[in-house]
Amino acid sequence: MLKQRMVKLFLSFSIVSAALALPAANAYVALGGKYASGTISYSYLGLTANYSQAMANGIAAWNDADTDVSFVYQSDSTKANIIFRQDTYGANIGWYARTQNKPVHTSGTYTKTDIDFNSSAMDGLSVTGRKGTSGHELGHAIGLDHVSQSTQIMSVSGIRQVSVPGSDDKAGANALY
Ligand SMILES: [Zn+2]
Repeated sequence: MLKQRMVKLFLSFSIVSAALALPAANAYVALGGKYASGTISYSYLGLTANYSQAMANGIAAWNDADTDVSFVYQSDSTKANIIFRQDTYGANIGWYARTQNKPVHTSGTYTKTDIDFNSSAMDGLSVTGRKGTSGHELGHAIGLDHVSQSTQIMSVSGIRQVSVPGSDDKAGANALY
């Protein structure tokens, strides 16, 4: 009898916790891994003018957002955490850009990140669209996953409706770092 009551109490407590946790869980989604520090270096290899502009605009969007993350340029690409590259991966493969955090994308402490721009698809975007794509990939690099709200840079949508981090994106960055 006593045991049964304890189970009941535990269940009602769990339901209350879940209800309280929902708004925060919707605000941002973490991938599960992150860098050890919010000061993260970046460099690039083989970017043409449009894509070095996209990289710089995405970096500036985050640095201007005034979160606990700051991206710093490292001229020696072998020493940088994040490396931006571009290639013609094809127009119909379903992605504008992709980010892979290493050693494990969804857990642990990142030491390296590859951000690949698919110029076959991104050539068709505006300067602002490429900036938003770059900023979105940088969100993955710091450990953020997709959200459903189109007002956030981590929105799943293919063509970015925003090109700067939104309030939930910033909350995510500040929660991680
Ligand atoms: Zn994404």
